[in-house]
Amino acid sequence: MKARLAAALAAALLLTGCTSGSDEPGDSPSPAPAASPTPERDLGVSTPVEDRVYPDVGDPGVDALSYDLDLTWDPATSTLEAQEEIRLRSTRAADHLQLDLDDDLHVARVTVDGRPAAFDHDGKDLVVAHRVRADDRYTLVVDYAGTPRPVPAPTKRQDFDTTGWTTTPDGEVWTMQEPYGAYSWYAVNDQPSDKALYSFRISVPSPWVGVANGRLLSRAERNGSTVTRWALDEPASSYLVTIAIGDLVMTEDRSASGVPMTYWTPRGRADLLERVRLAPAGLGWLEERLGAFPFSSLGFLVVESKSGMETQTMITLGDTRYATSPEVLVHEMAHQWYGDQVTPVDWRDVWMNEGMAMFLQATWQDQLQDQPIEQTMDYWAELDAQLREDYGPPANYDADAFGGSNVYTSPALMWDELRKRIGDDLFWRLVRDWPAAHDNGNADYDDITAWWSEQSGEDLSGLFDDWLLGETTPERSS
Ligand SMILES: [Zn+2]
Repeated sequence: MKARLAAALAAALLLTGCTSGSDEPGDSPSPAPAASPTPERDLGVSTPVEDRVYPDVGDPGVDALSYDLDLTWDPATSTLEAQEEIRLRSTRAADHLQLDLDDDLHVARVTVDGRPAAFDHDGKDLVVAHRVRADDRYTLVVDYAGTPRPVPAPTKRQDFDTTGWTTTPDGEVWTMQEPYGAYSWYAVNDQPSDKALYSFRISVPSPWVGVANGRLLSRAERNGSTVTRWALDEPASSYLVTIAIGDLVMTEDRSASGVPMTYWTPRGRADLLERVRLAPAGLGWLEERLGAFPFSSLGFLVVESKSGMETQTMITLGDTRYATSPEVLVHEMAHQWYGDQVTPVDWRDVWMNEGMAMFLQATWQDQLQDQPIEQTMDYWAELDAQLREDYGPPANYDADAFGGSNVYTSPALMWDELRKRIGDDLFWRLVRDWPAAHDNGNADYDDITAWWSEQSGEDLSGLFDDWLLGETTPERSS
């Protein structure tokens, strides 16, 4: 059992992480609704902050409302040509706007509200000279091109050391971009507190296809290219954006609850398709506990990675047995509520995502894989002291140890302790209520700990503080 648990644990530590185109007539898998009217842009209004762990990425002066990305990929030369329209709100008066964009990409032109603007692109900072007023809205169009490269990830993990746009030797593309890495391929306020709407138009040589978050609005073959258009109905943080380009085949499905689903698997890999087709069963289990799936569609995208990532409405999975296992499917789907529907304000509180995803995964394994939760928790408890020593407390971890096991298993243990303290009925009701009460929002440590105390009628701050900020493992109840 232990070996199995150890394997499960080791595996569980995986991040388990258009403006210029005309409308093409295309075969659309689902009816494409009209483009969002302007007021829906307000869904993208956020309260951006400076990240306490990674302050060099993102700028609280910018509140991006929507990104429309028009991307053309040439796998033969590994060249991306892009035009991006960003609608944003300036949060303060200033003489410039700042976004993140890697300098492997060459910016040819920037306009603000239709007029060419001067800009400086030094390192990853794209600084656009334009006088802005607090709370006014602006439309930037950025034309850029180049060969995107992933950026170094601030982590000690084995399964990834870079983040962002990744090109395979064959010229295929995938992205996993936690905690930051979106800026490796588009100009972005790359910080989780700034949620925004997205649309994509992706042109690639046929028969390859470009896949992104949200619903597939259209797909057309023209002059040797496949052009797909995608849109997210609800705002997402930049680390939850995904794109993949390759010889991928779409299979449609539907959950028992009626969620339209798609699987995007490499051509000729029926084995991978068979594995991801287990997702609806896991989704049903999660919906029983967490309520209705919070978005309008769900997809699974299998790429040449070793990890898995809860990218919003289009989960990205590595093409390994583990990354496509039922427990990882459950883990990444759990994040659609815990991480995607409600998202940490900044990276200090990534435990809010991983702790609950691990707790739910352990509960699912208890009920469906004959792996008693008590044993899982006992095993994680044995590791806890070392994890705190290696990486720091879950809510105060070392900045160069992003995604360490301490933000996964230690807070999962905390949730199990909390369950025992307040009882299953109340615990599960609050587990279900928290994401719904913060739909499309962000929250931090103080928000979630105060909410649980208020909702349970019990001061739980000591329990949270001991587990999340303590240097040593708190005592567990029997
Ligand atoms: Zn996870």
